[in-house]
Amino acid sequence: MNKKLGAIALLGASAVVLAGCSTGSTATDGGTPEPAELRVWLVGTDTPQDARDYLVKTFEDENPGSTLTIEEQQWTGLVDKLTTSLSSSDSPDVVEMGNTQAAAFTSSGALLDLSDIEDARTGIAAGFVNAGRLWRGAYGTAGEVGHICVDPRGPLCKCGQRGCIEAFSGGGALAERWGRPGALPGRDVFDGADAGDPVALALRDGFAFGVAAAVRVIVLSTDVESVVLGGGVSALGDRMLSCVVTELEARAAASPFLRSLHLADRVELLPPGSPAAALGAALLGADTHEQETVPHG
Ligand SMILES: [Zn+2]
Repeated sequence: MNKKLGAIALLGASAVVLAGCSTGSTATDGGTPEPAELRVWLVGTDTPQDARDYLVKTFEDENPGSTLTIEEQQWTGLVDKLTTSLSSSDSPDVVEMGNTQAAAFTSSGALLDLSDIEDARTGIAAGFVNAGRLWRGAYGTAGEVGHICVDPRGPLCKCGQRGCIEAFSGGGALAERWGRPGALPGRDVFDGADAGDPVALALRDGFAFGVAAAVRVIVLSTDVESVVLGGGVSALGDRMLSCVVTELEARAAASPFLRSLHLADRVELLPPGSPAAALGAALLGADTHEQETVPHG
């Protein structure tokens, strides 16, 4: 149990930023951002204290003069509490919520549009957890598997390559290729595939191809004990997991070598609503300089 992979963030994260932040962190004239007092609502108790401490410390280290305060909330009554908060001048800046809660706020314009930082919204990355610690490599880029090319003739990726894992399975790429309006394009693609829509079927197959490729690359390069799939996609539950497992098993059927790796058996799904992927992404993005390992619960 000394090697375990944390989470691959897929199809977006489960933490959202609210529009009309109560305190400003907006850069003025393109210069240094003004100091801010950021309030973050984390829901439930499953975010380890080490991770909370690290998030606060890293944010405040990288934004001198600013503060980040985590306020723990409960899933029960979250929508009502946030609705009340938004109607006052006392609303938080960042809120952890699942797809179920997000639907109530996307149409009302309560959420800030983060499409200009699309990589953070839709990227695919892996966090490696070894002996309870996050391992980030010599320069902090370990786990950037989203831009590994797995098909030179595949779809064009925003990074300029063709056939990146992210071009097949990233939330932004999937939504763009789906091209139909909807708050949850990942779910819409899976619904469409279940209904026999040929475009959706092709996208779902491509999605499974990309995630299975990520699992294969990760296991072949690190031999981790398990690969945990997380992010917004985990709300799709067994629907997503089963298509990835099917793809892995099809590849294993054709290759005794792949079969010997038991890839399908190593894949797990993060429970819906877990903040692990979002928090992990925040931690990974927050610090690329100071530490090679980060305490992790
Ligand atoms: Zn790419």
